[in-house]
Amino acid sequence: MERIDILSLTYEALEEEILLMGEPKFRAKQIFSWLHEKRVTEFGQMTTLSLPFRERLERKFCINRLKIVKRLASSIDDTVKYLYELSDGNYVETVWMEYHHGVSVCVSTQVGCKMGCQFCASTIAGFVRNLTPGEILLQMYEAERDMGRKIGSIVLMGIGEPLDNYDNVTAFFRILSDPRGTGLSLRHVTLSTCGIVPKIHQLAEDTSGITLSVSLHSPTDQRRSEIMPINRRYNIAQVLDACRSYMKKTGRRVTFEYAVIEGINSAQQDAAALARLLKGMQCHVNLIPVNPIAERSFHARRKTAEQFQKALESHGINATVRRTLGSDIQAACGQLRRNALEKETRR
Ligand code: SAH
Repeated sequence: MERIDILSLTYEALEEEILLMGEPKFRAKQIFSWLHEKRVTEFGQMTTLSLPFRERLERKFCINRLKIVKRLASSIDDTVKYLYELSDGNYVETVWMEYHHGVSVCVSTQVGCKMGCQFCASTIAGFVRNLTPGEILLQMYEAERDMGRKIGSIVLMGIGEPLDNYDNVTAFFRILSDPRGTGLSLRHVTLSTCGIVPKIHQLAEDTSGITLSVSLHSPTDQRRSEIMPINRRYNIAQVLDACRSYMKKTGRRVTFEYAVIEGINSAQQDAAALARLLKGMQCHVNLIPVNPIAERSFHARRKTAEQFQKALESHGINATVRRTLGSDIQAACGQLRRNALEKETRR
């Protein structure tokens, strides 16, 4: 019988399993705390439990780990990028970012991605599988173990589309924010999506506190559909409608991501059109000069992004050009995993 991946269980699911074993409920509380507060990696370390019970746990459950196969530390800033190997040999990447207000990690939610955004390295080799709640959690736990410090916030902006792995991502939120474990408030969590409209509505119903970040990248449906195939399914008007109702329901401001790409979406009239679209919304636009990837010729100068920002602000829209962290260590989504895969095929 395959053992149950215990780090993927919410508190309630763990409690159910413990009751099935004929043990009292409070054992679940002890185990949850060992796993998520004290972060043990073996049942043997759960010293408040009897030895025979620990052995029974060992037979029924496993505590997974991620193996660090690459650890790249930026020499420009304090960014660290991890390439992890999952237990089935797949790779994901995670970025550790230091800001003056604290440390943030950027985690992946899938191995590969189905969304097909033209400028993104994560999607080029296609989709492999969803990550489990435990694998999303472990990206943070292993990085904290490695750095010997705790993070203050999490962004779901690594490989994959989080709303395409909805159940596992929301289970991850429940485990992460449970006060009996890690207890990180969801106010410190940002989820970035390419705009899967029904799931944005569902997220507003199912969770609270999460900052929603929407990848917009163009103010016109025609252009957006060219660079982001998801737009053919849910267009800009539908996405913005979902954002408005998310804001109404949760009281949280929405952030828009806009990768500035020279000659594609960087013109002054694009900025004016974007400003018209967002007028009256409590929002913020994050501009990112597109990170060039090997397979495409997209590029942008920082100056273009800055001019775009000025244009947006002259129309009354808040915008910042994102500081590019770890530009020397391929900190953009999917680049490291992509290179690791390439090397394997060459071998
Ligand atoms: N699937 C989610 C989250 C993953 S990517 C989403 O689409 O939002 C996180 C952000 O990085 C997204 O805004 C994505 O569009 C952007 N991105 C991807 N590749 C990029 C690149 N080469 N340069 C700049 N931004 C990029």
